Amino acid sequence: MTRDAHRAALRTTSPTAFWLDRPERPAALPRLTADTTADLAIVGGGYTGLWTALLAKQREPGRDVLVLEAGTCGHAASGRNGGFLSPSLTHGLSNGAARWPGEIDTLQRLGNANLDAFERDLDTHGIDCGFARTGKVSVAATPWQAAALREAAALGAEHGEKSRLLDGAELRDWVDSPMWGTGLWQPDYALVDPARLVWGLRDACLAAGVRIAEHTEVTGLDSKPADRIRLTTPYGEVAARRVALATNIYPPLLKRFRLSMVPVYDYALTTVPLTDDQLASIGWTGAHGITDAGNQFHYLRKTADNRILWGGYDAIYPFGGRVDEALTQRPETFGTLAAQFAETFPALADVPFSHAWGGVIDSTTRFCMFAGTAAAGRIGYALGFTGLGVGATRFGADVVLDLLEGRATERTGLEMIRRKPLPFPPEPVRYAGIQATRWSMAREDLNGKRNLWLRTLDRLGLGFDS
Ligand SMILES: Cc1cc2nc3c(=O)[nH]c(=O)nc-3n(C[C@H](O)[C@H](O)[C@H](O)COP(=O)(O)OP(=O)(O)OC[C@H]3O[C@@H](n4cnc5c(N)ncnc54)[C@H](O)[C@@H]3O)c2cc1C
Repeated sequence: MTRDAHRAALRTTSPTAFWLDRPERPAALPRLTADTTADLAIVGGGYTGLWTALLAKQREPGRDVLVLEAGTCGHAASGRNGGFLSPSLTHGLSNGAARWPGEIDTLQRLGNANLDAFERDLDTHGIDCGFARTGKVSVAATPWQAAALREAAALGAEHGEKSRLLDGAELRDWVDSPMWGTGLWQPDYALVDPARLVWGLRDACLAAGVRIAEHTEVTGLDSKPADRIRLTTPYGEVAARRVALATNIYPPLLKRFRLSMVPVYDYALTTVPLTDDQLASIGWTGAHGITDAGNQFHYLRKTADNRILWGGYDAIYPFGGRVDEALTQRPETFGTLAAQFAETFPALADVPFSHAWGGVIDSTTRFCMFAGTAAAGRIGYALGFTGLGVGATRFGADVVLDLLEGRATERTGLEMIRRKPLPFPPEPVRYAGIQATRWSMAREDLNGKRNLWLRTLDRLGLGFDS
């Protein structure tokens, strides 16, 4: 198929996230237009902010909780992601085991407990977001990726993570592509509809008595007054006893985060709805999600109306760490994704795409969340979930509440929580370093060799991922 044919498949795409482009998207809530007070003010209305609000009410129903959101709840990463719900709090077992070998089993246990509590909370609050423990298949395109899957299975077995290797014909019962020869079945993954999750959390917060102001950007934070933290917004000021920052990669309200995270743009397409026969032609009759095992990995899953969501591969860092909605449309990446889709599933090469979008990820040098406090424990934060925050944000919310309440818990005692990620260097070294890392990772995908640059980063415990 020609390159133009791939472009043709993109001709009628909507430049919005499929998940957000649906009639049930709620109307915006009123902005804040008067001065007010709160026991707990939360900045950011994605998963982190909304879980923090909901769990705060669960812990203490009388607490006066206010969420301030610059856009609408879920307009950012929380409404645009792949909806893969991993029990891991550490961006996967191997990352966690390499960084915190002494506490990885605790982290795994807490991650599983978080996923169970997540499911219970959905049930309690009647949040219908298509949560299903569908499991996930990781697939390998090269012998070195197959070896990596075998290593992952062995590591999983050591730490009680269930998995099963799928070879040749067995894999074709899960998905059939000329690109993939080995797979790893991981039953503990779930899938959700990301936007329905964030909208459901928003509704549950409102029902619990949380006040939410949308289109209300917090432009300033003053922690000097001893009794209250003062938050400035365009039309009103908030005086809050406690503040939780759930602002992901957006310009930080505390200077200390300037080097803690970098924005990484990740992109996805959805096809038009497919027939059962089309899905059967690629052997994908189950509900499971799929990821491939490259450094530049793809993730794919079905939607409730049988589209295939096909995302990942490029992970773009813009010079200077710009966060700009314009960067979420990248025709070059959409063209690459469309061509790779046709190569992966030749039987579906003519299928048009309905949506093409991007979103921004808050990547840290250790690929997973960090949390802490400022202003003598009156401001809490949970940030840096990198590309695996659908489940971990609920855990992050619990950590922030423990910290703001001054409670020493198993969660707050974790080394992962007590220690913060190493910072990224300032520009232009940062850009050069990230480009060198991306280039080296792409080479490794092609030749299976980890070059000197990557091995040096491994030794320093540094990296770049989405
Ligand atoms: C394309 C893509 C695919 C992904 N796929 C997956 C996946 O399959 N599985 C997975 O686990 N994770 C995935 N992720 C990551 C996951 O979506 C995030 O980790 C998670 O949504 C982070 O939630 P959050 O609430 O911290 O951030 P966000 O959803 O970004 O919310 C932060 C909110 O804060 C608001 N805000 C920021 N500053 C201010 C301010 N000053 N005043 C008021 N409001 C402010 C923003 O407007 C925003 O709404 C993906 C991310 C992307 C972009």
